[in-house]
Amino acid sequence: METSADKIRALPKAELHRHIEGCVRVATVIDLARRHNLKLPSFDPAELELSYKLRAPGASLAAVLGMFGLAQASFASYEAVERITFEALEDAYKKENIRLLELRYSPDFMLGRAGLDWKKAHELIAATCAKFEKNSNLVCGVIVIASRSYGLASAEKTIGFCVENKKTVAGFDLADSESSFPSSLYKDAAQKLHRAGIPLTVHSGEEGHFSQVVETIKQLAPRRIGHGVKAAEDASGGTIELVKNSGVTIETNPWSNYLTRAVAAIEAHPLKKFIRAGVKCTIGADDPEILDTDLNKEYGLAVEKMGLSSDELRYTLRCAVQGSFLSPDRRQQAAKELGL
Ligand SMILES: [Zn+2]
Repeated sequence: METSADKIRALPKAELHRHIEGCVRVATVIDLARRHNLKLPSFDPAELELSYKLRAPGASLAAVLGMFGLAQASFASYEAVERITFEALEDAYKKENIRLLELRYSPDFMLGRAGLDWKKAHELIAATCAKFEKNSNLVCGVIVIASRSYGLASAEKTIGFCVENKKTVAGFDLADSESSFPSSLYKDAAQKLHRAGIPLTVHSGEEGHFSQVVETIKQLAPRRIGHGVKAAEDASGGTIELVKNSGVTIETNPWSNYLTRAVAAIEAHPLKKFIRAGVKCTIGADDPEILDTDLNKEYGLAVEKMGLSSDELRYTLRCAVQGSFLSPDRRQQAAKELGL
C-alpha cells in the first residue's frame, strides 16, 4: 500500500535554498578526513553524527559552529569540492525527486580554509551541475554567497567575483548574522548587483525582529528573502503586506527554523499564514545533512504539522519556478518536469 510518505517522495519537487556546505554526507566527511589527514571527533559514522548533526533545538552556538566546521574542513581539495557537489545533486535528485534546484555556497567560508582558488573551484561546481543536468531531468543553478560575518571587504570581493563569473552564476545571496551586520550596510553592494543584472536573495528575518525584513526590502530590493519568519510576528500585518506588495518570494526552511528556535514549534511556522496572505513562498531544507532533513521531511511536515493542502504544495512549486533565478527557458523546462 502506498503511504503518504511514498506519495511525498514520488512528488517532483523544487528547492531554491540549499547550501552546498550543508550537503556533505557523513560517510564523505569520514572518507575525506582519512584522505586529507583531518581530525574528526570520531571515525565511526553513528558516533560522528552526534557532533555533526543537529537533531534537536537548544544546542549551543559552539556546538553548531563545530558542525559547520566539520563540513567546512571537508572542502580540502578540488576533488573534494567536485565530489561534494556531485553528491548534493545526486541526493536531491534520487532521494528527494527534486527537479529544480538552486545550490548556493560562500566562497570565503567554503574555499578559504584550504586556500582553494575561487575561480577554479567555481568552474568545477558549475561544470558538475551542467554535467548532472545533461544526464538527468534536473534543472539546476548556482548562487554565490557573501557571509555577512566575514565583513564588508569579503562581500565586496564576492560581488566582484560574481560579476566576473556572471555566465555561470544564477544569483547572489547575503547570508548569516543579520543582527551584527544589518542589511543597511550593504546598500551599495546591492546596487552593484542590480546594475550588473545579478538577481539577489537575502537571508533576513531568520532571527531578531520583523523590522529587519522591512529594512532588507527597502534598502536592498531583493527578489527573494531566505527564511523571513519574523515577518509574521508583526501584529499589524504590515510586514507581510510589504513582502507581498514587493513581489518578494520567501524561501522558507521550516525544520531549520525549528532547530534554531526561530519558531517555537514546527506547528507555529508561518508558512501557511504566508500562503493565505498571498505571499509567494517556497519550501527548502537549508542544510540537509547538518540539520538532518530533506525535502521529503519538509513536505511531510508542511502537510502533517502545518496543514498544507496538496494545492498549497503545488502553489509553492509554482512560486519556486516563478521565483527561480534561472533563465526563462530553463524555468519553463523545470515547470514541465514539475508537472505544472
Ligand atoms: Zn540558509
